[in-house]
Amino acid sequence: MKNLIKNLISGFLSIFIFLAPKNRAVILMYHSVGRNEIPSTVSPKNFAKQMAYLKEKQYQVISLANLADILEKKQPWPTKAVVLSFDDGYADNFIFAWPILWQYNFPATIFLTAGTIGGEKIKKTGERLPMLAWPEIEKMQKSGLVDFQPHTQSHPRLSEISQAEAQKEITESQAVIKEHLGGEAQFFAYPYGVYNQSIIDILKANGFIAALTVSRGLVKQESQLFELPRMAVSLKTSLAQFKSKLNFGF
Ligand SMILES: [Zn+2]
Repeated sequence: MKNLIKNLISGFLSIFIFLAPKNRAVILMYHSVGRNEIPSTVSPKNFAKQMAYLKEKQYQVISLANLADILEKKQPWPTKAVVLSFDDGYADNFIFAWPILWQYNFPATIFLTAGTIGGEKIKKTGERLPMLAWPEIEKMQKSGLVDFQPHTQSHPRLSEISQAEAQKEITESQAVIKEHLGGEAQFFAYPYGVYNQSIIDILKANGFIAALTVSRGLVKQESQLFELPRMAVSLKTSLAQFKSKLNFGF
């Protein structure tokens, strides 16, 4: 029922697409792209439809680094800017999402839970999802299209552990990625979207330039770099809802 109402509102809003605000970007948040029924998952079929829609409607899919440059006023705002982000590092991102990203030449950022690389994640539903391993990560990174950024070692709620533990979770995951892939790991996604000022301070002290939350909304010039909002795409997201997420952050 709730989903039906959302669909109706999204359908209605789509009439007013020409009113969509300018100088805005949307960061889409994905998790698993696969054939499971976990609420945060998007099916390969829906993911393909969503990417085809971005292509068809000429959205400009830009990298997170590019968005950070725009926010730091080093680059102008493109029209219809979209950033693709994937949290946790599920192996199905390589199997189902990667071929489509490659097909459309869409950049994306995958936030890795460093402690589970090559392993599996047991979801609340009891399902066990395999995680990306280094050979797949390296293959995607070498394409220049996908960058990998830290999402802690063990995916804790960072505000509920000690400052020292939080520091360790952040810097160790950053170090693991740097060690394997080289370059700088400068972007972070807060597990569960949980953070506070001391977590932001740790990130700043360790060379990060931006961090992503799970608060919904569009990114604007005045958005805080360490509190960037995202729009979640999940199992029940219809194409009408996907459109209103893109244009209105609803
Ligand atoms: Zn996560």
